[in-house]
Amino acid sequence: MFKFWFSIPLWQRVIGALIIGTLFGWIWKEFALFGGASPESIKWIGDLFIKAIKMLIVPLIFFSLVSGIAALGDLRKLGNVGGKALMIFGGTAAISVSLGLTLATITQPGVGLNVALPDGAEVPEPATTTAVDMILSMVTDNPVATMAEGQVLPLIIFALLFGISVLMAGKEALPIVKAMDAGSAVMQRMTMIVMELAPFGVFALMVWVAGTLEPAVLLGLLQIIGLNYLGCFIIILLVYPAIIKFIAKLPIIDFYRGIVDAQVVAFSTASSNAALPVTLRCVQRNLGVSRSVSSFVVALGATINMNGTAMYLGLVAVFGAQVYGIDLTWTSYVLIALTATLGSVGAAGIPGSGLIMLTLVLTSIGVPLETVALVAGINHIMDMMRTATNVTGDATVAVAVGRMAGEIDVEEYVSADDI
Ligand code: ASP
Repeated sequence: MFKFWFSIPLWQRVIGALIIGTLFGWIWKEFALFGGASPESIKWIGDLFIKAIKMLIVPLIFFSLVSGIAALGDLRKLGNVGGKALMIFGGTAAISVSLGLTLATITQPGVGLNVALPDGAEVPEPATTTAVDMILSMVTDNPVATMAEGQVLPLIIFALLFGISVLMAGKEALPIVKAMDAGSAVMQRMTMIVMELAPFGVFALMVWVAGTLEPAVLLGLLQIIGLNYLGCFIIILLVYPAIIKFIAKLPIIDFYRGIVDAQVVAFSTASSNAALPVTLRCVQRNLGVSRSVSSFVVALGATINMNGTAMYLGLVAVFGAQVYGIDLTWTSYVLIALTATLGSVGAAGIPGSGLIMLTLVLTSIGVPLETVALVAGINHIMDMMRTATNVTGDATVAVAVGRMAGEIDVEEYVSADDI
């Protein structure tokens, strides 16, 4: 039995868990299995998996980022890698917001919609995050507290500075380099152990999602849900492959084969942060991107590169304007594009953060915040898809930058050996 279980590659077990969990959750609900117990009763298994995987984030980012920078051995190269990553992050965010705006403008999902809010819906306060707040939140005044609280972005900045200082200290810092290399190797093994929980966690999360869906809420807003999925599919199946093919000049199919674990974990947890250790493992082990480039790009990307979220913010802002009969001018479109990009950068890699950022976008163009209450009931199901898109984007940029910087092992990329 055990032998059989472990003979199936992990990615197949995880995908199987996703499909079987969804079906089982639906059957459980439809036929009121287990004496009518709620499918939510097994969600704790999914929460356990999420907790275990979150446990890895802080040490994994710190060790692999510092040891990665030390391995790079050259600050100019780091600047080069960072600059290229930021350029692709920015370019894909712009494409994604434009896609969301275009889809909503062409199909007009909000026109003629019944605007009655669901029972008990709460209209949120507008988000007050400004660009200055975001810049301030990037720097920590206490690295230990940052680690204790698991704040990813200030941790990355601290680890970056630490790594740069290690490089500058040269020979004197060799013991630290060794310790960081060892720490990184250990954390990679630990990720492998925790990933063995993935099939069970994904199964439980999908049973919960499928078993607690409210068909009435879904049906009323089916069009916007469909557009959210369509937009994400366009990004995953057209935009990213174009980058892999034309910028990285690598075969597309191997990319998808290598990244599928991270996509499924992102989809079922709706959290880029929770998926981070898995994304890192996929990008390094399956796609052969060096530790330095992958840890830098993937960790940074998990917090600031969210194309699924950017597309969603553009889409739902126009949808809200249509629902409440507000005419959008060209200036409004530009404002949406700017605030949606800012919102996708500022959104934390946790479930539901895109919905909070929606308030920022809506406020900037004067669309009622009731829009947020209107889509809150369908947020999770949309969040799952945009998170899978966000994470695929991080892997795409890591591969592209890795290729440009000569930091990818192409043989590893094309081989399916250890997937
Ligand atoms: N949950 C998403 C993520 O972690 C962010 C969002 O809500 O759009 O990537």
